[in-house]
Amino acid sequence: MSNAIRIDGKAKAAELSEEITAETAELLEQHGLQPGLAVVIIGEDPASQVYVRNKGKRAEGCGFYSVQHSLDAGTSQDDVLKLIDELNNDDKIHGILVQLPLPDHLDEQTITQSISPAKDVDGFHFINIGKLTSGNTADAFVPCTPAGCMLMIEDQLGADLSGLNAVVIGRSNIVGKPMAALLLQAHATVTICHSRTRDLAGVVHEADIVIAAVGRPNMVTGSWIKPGAVVIDVGINRSEVEVDGETKSKLTGDVDYDSVSEVAKAVTPVPGGVGPMTITMLMFNTLRAARLSAGLDS
Ligand code: NDP
Repeated sequence: MSNAIRIDGKAKAAELSEEITAETAELLEQHGLQPGLAVVIIGEDPASQVYVRNKGKRAEGCGFYSVQHSLDAGTSQDDVLKLIDELNNDDKIHGILVQLPLPDHLDEQTITQSISPAKDVDGFHFINIGKLTSGNTADAFVPCTPAGCMLMIEDQLGADLSGLNAVVIGRSNIVGKPMAALLLQAHATVTICHSRTRDLAGVVHEADIVIAAVGRPNMVTGSWIKPGAVVIDVGINRSEVEVDGETKSKLTGDVDYDSVSEVAKAVTPVPGGVGPMTITMLMFNTLRAARLSAGLDS
């Protein structure tokens, strides 16, 4: 029997979006400032096309100025850097996002690091990473997925995680590492696991907070979970399923929701958990970038 709270990321994201929309209207009325988000997509990756479309729609829904630059898969690195330079110098644009993954001939690090740290709403610039890991988050941009996870953890456990063990499975720069930095800043005792970790199930079993960011469907099962733990499932695994003779795309998380929800205090579902929060945090970061650009508090 499932006892766990189903953490409704979709509902929380909708609530936050309303607040962002209201604050955007206020910013325009009081300061004549409209947050602007530029999304750059290179190539035809179908999942990326969907993400970018959704980001644009959401930005417009919040009342932002929203532009999308769709470049051919063969665009040269120099041309991408030239576009980013133009956006860095465009006063109407406060947030710049380059959708990943990039075509193979482009260097992800050079492109990511060419975005002005003040417009780096993905939080991937070394300046923002440095600010996060050194605890100077007042004007830093925190990567959207871990930022969204933290808000959901805070709802369950409060902002002060002193005395709690947190285990992050996955050590990517986008999710695992910034997630660990945020948990540490909230005073949790943090362990980061990855593909070389021995006895992963045993390590996870010590955790009061588990964040799974791996990319392996249903890897974390109920037997791994300490009773009463809060479990956040970042994983998005796509598979094709046949429904009434039609092939449909299905999303599965890294956490086996049914067995975990028998043991945990609270679990995020997939879909409807971390995903909607991620895109909302992008809007939050863009609003914040606009406010900071005008010398307003964030
Ligand atoms: P990466 O592939 O960059 O990182 C995956 C991590 O999982 C690596 O650190 C890897 O270890 C570790 N890993 C792989 N296999 C195992 C294993 N058997 N046991 C323990 N650890 C393992 O992925 P991302 O961090 O970018 O994404 C993780 C998942 O989250 C994906 O499913 C992705 O789609 C999803 N995602 C969801 C988002 C959302 O908004 N909901 C946003 C971003 C990502 P090692 O480093 O040793 O290779």
